[in-house]
Amino acid sequence: MSDFFEALSWISGRYLGFFHERVSGAPGTGLAFEDELRVLDGLRAEVEKYSGYLARLEDLHSRGEVDTETYSRLKKEYEESLAELNASLSGLKKRLVESGWWVCAKCGEVNPPVLTKCRKCGRGSP
Ligand SMILES: [Zn+2]
Repeated sequence: MSDFFEALSWISGRYLGFFHERVSGAPGTGLAFEDELRVLDGLRAEVEKYSGYLARLEDLHSRGEVDTETYSRLKKEYEESLAELNASLSGLKKRLVESGWWVCAKCGEVNPPVLTKCRKCGRGSP
């Protein structure tokens, strides 16, 4: 069981590094908005993934299928990763809005200036 989680955290750690590089390397590099969207959606997918790991870990723990040491270590690791990812996500959204992206009044999605309708819910730009 712990080998399985070791592998998961190793793989996700590599993706995390990738996204951090993309996010921190992005300002002033003139990335096309498609790239920004990919990073944004990628970060969200990572948040979802780690939330899933955490839920699965809690489930295993509640059924006594994971030892306490592994549980504590992975829980800490996943929570730290989630905090980092959420911080990256907030930072990215803030930067996008500063560079002219608009926030949907209905659902809160950030949209590139070229779009006239929200890419998530379809509401028109303000
Ligand atoms: Zn919307």
